Amino acid sequence: MAKINTHFQKLSAHYLFPRIEKQVSLLKEKRPEAELIDFGIGDVSEPLAEGLVKALCASALEMGSKNTFKGYGPSQGYPFLREEIARHDYKGLGIHPDEIFISDGSKSDTANIHELFDQSSIVALPDPAYPVYVDATVMAGRSMGATSSGTYEGIHYLSCTEKNGFMPSPPASHTDLIYLCSPNNPTGVALPKELLQEWVRYAKKEKAVLLFDAAYEAYISSDAPHSIYEIEGAKDVAIEFRSYSKSSGFTGLRCAFTVIPKTLLLDSHSLHALWKRRSDTKFNGVSYIIQKAAAATYSSPCKEEIQAQITSYKKRTSLLMQGLQSLGYTIYGGKDAPYIWCKAPMGLSSWAFFDLLLQEAHIIAIPGSGFGPCGEGYVRFAAFKEEKIIEKSLKRFMNLSKKIENIQR
Ligand code: PLP
Repeated sequence: MAKINTHFQKLSAHYLFPRIEKQVSLLKEKRPEAELIDFGIGDVSEPLAEGLVKALCASALEMGSKNTFKGYGPSQGYPFLREEIARHDYKGLGIHPDEIFISDGSKSDTANIHELFDQSSIVALPDPAYPVYVDATVMAGRSMGATSSGTYEGIHYLSCTEKNGFMPSPPASHTDLIYLCSPNNPTGVALPKELLQEWVRYAKKEKAVLLFDAAYEAYISSDAPHSIYEIEGAKDVAIEFRSYSKSSGFTGLRCAFTVIPKTLLLDSHSLHALWKRRSDTKFNGVSYIIQKAAAATYSSPCKEEIQAQITSYKKRTSLLMQGLQSLGYTIYGGKDAPYIWCKAPMGLSSWAFFDLLLQEAHIIAIPGSGFGPCGEGYVRFAAFKEEKIIEKSLKRFMNLSKKIENIQR
């Protein structure tokens, strides 16, 4: 008799987004006229840059001509793209094109990376964090199951709170695989160089591997490192994940990459060689057309157009942040990422504040507790929306504040 993978049964029943959708559809039933403002799901809102569309069309035409048609490409990605990445994203950091693997997204890579490691590996992850890390860890059989406090047994949670500036520090105990996300989703906080140096030292001492997710590096305004390889010694202990999704508007096109330096060895085994073997077996590469578009992001005029989009998203984030701050909200993040981490007023829980925003202001946020227990008492706003929508939302926040004042009186 075939049996299911029982690790899937250990996953908590309530995935964050279906619960949000349910609450939103209940509101729509009750008040069909309500015009909702969605600061929930972190997706870009601007159409593709013109230069990207041109690159897509040109490569599509190549596919229609006998001399330039492409069939299967290399599973690791075309050299033309890997060379651009090494030259631009890792300039001066000594990353070779051969150490770069092109993929269809960081979501799949940050989850699939588990396949390279022994079953007994102890996983550490920031709390709060991108939910994929914890769910992929459970699916990979690295937890005994959910506990009553909303955590998973066997997973080491790295608390990120107001007290430590939402920055995870190396634990006193041993762990094997450590997810780090900088700038972090959901808190929007980027990790400074000194802290990353501590993490590299910890990984060396514990013979652990850092899984560094830099999906939002393009939004960094502070002097926080954009790559873990800016830290001395990181090439011996760290894998880096990057994505074109939020940096270049590729959430619908799908393209990302993972860097595994050849110097990253575990017990003299090369993780690069294992991931290459895995890719050759399970993956036939990202489409030529999409890789050509990704390569176009490195040159004019596409580069400038994309930079202008990021500047515009950052402006929108500042507008929302300043507006919320002027109304007295306690806000974190926002400077190095398109995410604002907002403390719920009056000591409300994440879900209670979510409900208040939805019912009274018709604004959708993501309850922070959905990203981990330390997210309780916060909500995340993703500020990709147009300026005029953000301005409209600020009027609603202002009215909500008046209602809250009246409740408190
Ligand atoms: N990593 C983080 C921290 C994210 O927030 C996201 C998407 O929201 C991803 C990775 C996924 O990126 P991709 O679109 O490349 O799968």
